[in-house]
Amino acid sequence: MNDDRFHEACGVFGIYAPGCDAARQTFFGIYALQHRGQESAGIATSDGLSIMSHKALGLVTDAFTEPILTQLHGHSAIGHTRYSTTGGSGLANAQPLVMETYLGPIALAHNGNLTNTAQLRRSLLHHGVGLQTTTDSEVAALTLLASGADDWGDCFSHLVRVAQGAYCLVLLTNQGLYAIRDPLGFRPLCLGQIGDQGWVVASESCALSTVGATWVREIAPGELVRIDADGPRTLAHFDAPRSAFCIFEYIYFARPDSSFHGQVIHQVRMEMGRQLAREAPAAADVVVGVPDSALPAAMGYAEQAQLPYVEGLIKNRYSTRTFIQPNQQQRKQGVLLKFSPLCSGIEGKRVILVDDSVVRGTTSSALVAALRRAGAKEVHLRVASPAVRHPCFMGIDMASYSELIAHRLSEAEIADALNVETLKYLSHAGLMRAIGRDRDAFCSACFTGDYPIPVPLPTLQDVIALTPIQRMPATAGNVCNHTYRRRLEGEAL
Ligand code: SF4
Repeated sequence: MNDDRFHEACGVFGIYAPGCDAARQTFFGIYALQHRGQESAGIATSDGLSIMSHKALGLVTDAFTEPILTQLHGHSAIGHTRYSTTGGSGLANAQPLVMETYLGPIALAHNGNLTNTAQLRRSLLHHGVGLQTTTDSEVAALTLLASGADDWGDCFSHLVRVAQGAYCLVLLTNQGLYAIRDPLGFRPLCLGQIGDQGWVVASESCALSTVGATWVREIAPGELVRIDADGPRTLAHFDAPRSAFCIFEYIYFARPDSSFHGQVIHQVRMEMGRQLAREAPAAADVVVGVPDSALPAAMGYAEQAQLPYVEGLIKNRYSTRTFIQPNQQQRKQGVLLKFSPLCSGIEGKRVILVDDSVVRGTTSSALVAALRRAGAKEVHLRVASPAVRHPCFMGIDMASYSELIAHRLSEAEIADALNVETLKYLSHAGLMRAIGRDRDAFCSACFTGDYPIPVPLPTLQDVIALTPIQRMPATAGNVCNHTYRRRLEGEAL
């Protein structure tokens, strides 16, 4: 992953609705979840007798045409949009996975990342189980079956006992639909009702409204639900000592019209901006947000600071993702393909630029340069989340230790590197105040390094990057030509 953004692990959707064209509804459901993954899309349906599926690389609208949807019969279905974290992005790894099992044919879709995939994979291979993909989703499916249990409830109990990490799974059989959220509840999953007898599960509530379903409730961490002709019922509840909902769902991943724990994301992000303005004011003339995810925070900041909110950056919605660009310079160019400054609002002004997060700093550095070229007199960067100093191992593709700018540099050094007058992050306490919930309910490991589950040891590359002090050559145009420090745990800068 070379992009300067976090990437969601995937979006999952499931529907059981007698009399309904489940494939079409699933198409709309995963279309609403497209922001969670753009590498491949797939749908599997059941008419009660057999399972049919289609998957392809690309966006949902690339993968499905009217003739394809027409061939996917049935009243129940699951769908998936993929961003690859474990395993490559090829078609073989696209989901749903469809397989013949001793309990009948199934289709399975997964959002998350198993942190002990290698161990589970070895165990399956030692037992003579052949694997056809490199995904942890196939490992999850085969681990379910490795239990040898004669009902799905027991298969899931086995999976929960041996699998570690983040997973929301939807599993389709000819008899019904199963949905499970891992016991710590890293990734979101909710339940909705469609018509009188239809039920829907989805990664985010925005998919419920898109298909005309009404919100019922969140699937609880560790909850296993079966949906069939008798409606939804909880088959099991696998407890954990705590929950660890990914805090980045609030900050960046989720669509602003989705809601978690009864809060609409747009409102929470506005409150993050207000809180940031209370904590980190700046003498400035206008507030500009980085489209799209930072716009609510920028609005909140402007409101609290009583400054004009202006559209200073325009996003090209048809640009390709910058991660296809192979080096730093081309990556910066990729940022400029995506965003262009709007001179009218910023020329001669002291600008507060609000972003939701800073990962490598590539995007921020390119945006600041663009604002300056467009005539901004000063640029003050305000980040509506704490500094990201640790990588994610729970299915969010961001960067390794060596690539995280806040792991390498102090706040003042980052400000210098990004060429901004001042830089301030929202405090962790301020973030929690904006969300209005207890921090123990969340995973915030990318800020704190306090992982709720055992995670892999750092790679050799990271160990090299963690060497206490390295000097970078001072070159013309180098964004940062001073001492790079490695933030070892507890090292004071
Ligand atoms: S480490 Fe960060 S991105 Fe990963 S699950 Fe935890 S909060 Fe989310």
